[in-house]
Amino acid sequence: MPWYYAEGTPLGPASRGPLDDADFAALASSGQILATTLVWQRGMAEWQPLAIARPDLLATPAVPDAPPAIGFCALCGLPRSPEDLLQFGQRSICPACKPRFATGLTLGVDLSQPRQRYAGFWIRFGARVIDGILIGIVQYSIVFAISGLGRDTAVSGLATILAYLLIQPTYEAAMTVKQQATLGKLALGLRVVRTDGSTLTWGRAIGRYFAQLLSSVILLIGYIMAAFDDRKQALHDRLCDTVVIYEN
Ligand SMILES: [Zn+2]
Repeated sequence: MPWYYAEGTPLGPASRGPLDDADFAALASSGQILATTLVWQRGMAEWQPLAIARPDLLATPAVPDAPPAIGFCALCGLPRSPEDLLQFGQRSICPACKPRFATGLTLGVDLSQPRQRYAGFWIRFGARVIDGILIGIVQYSIVFAISGLGRDTAVSGLATILAYLLIQPTYEAAMTVKQQATLGKLALGLRVVRTDGSTLTWGRAIGRYFAQLLSSVILLIGYIMAAFDDRKQALHDRLCDTVVIYEN
């Protein structure tokens, strides 16, 4: 039995139809006839909303058993359905953030990583001066103590050399492992960490000390490299996968 439905037009409501059952159902499922649209067929006393006349034609919204899947953009942090997110390796990025993220990638910067402020050449130089003064004081104190003790110049000479050789690497490695920074860096709010943000192990901290010597040996060029690197990595930082960052 044919159906009719009311449709708003610029000139007011108008009745549409007749439509057979299949066409009528198709209009309902396509959303052209809404739950509130008035419909009629022969036998009905008056026009009724589709929801009352033919509730069977209204699509019942699917209710999932489990919470719907949701993902978060690694850049802006907004929730998105997983199919909207674009995968860049391990990172999920929303379409709005994709251009910015892709630009970062071409520049070699992963913008989804927490922003770190990398310490530049001069502040690191300042930290080194502070450390140099502190170590100098300790070295001279030890030399003074040794020379006061011993009359045997060979023994005191050897002890002096050992003190000179061991104090600095021990101090730097121990401070870097325990505090992520030497006293000079701590004083200036700097930290030495791996590029992934983790603390250096003893092996890496000692290795970094000797790599630093290498940076010094090649006429400080290894240090000056830091001034031109986007993460301010000196040669020894590159060799050891470390960065010097501001504490916060
Ligand atoms: Zn986003």
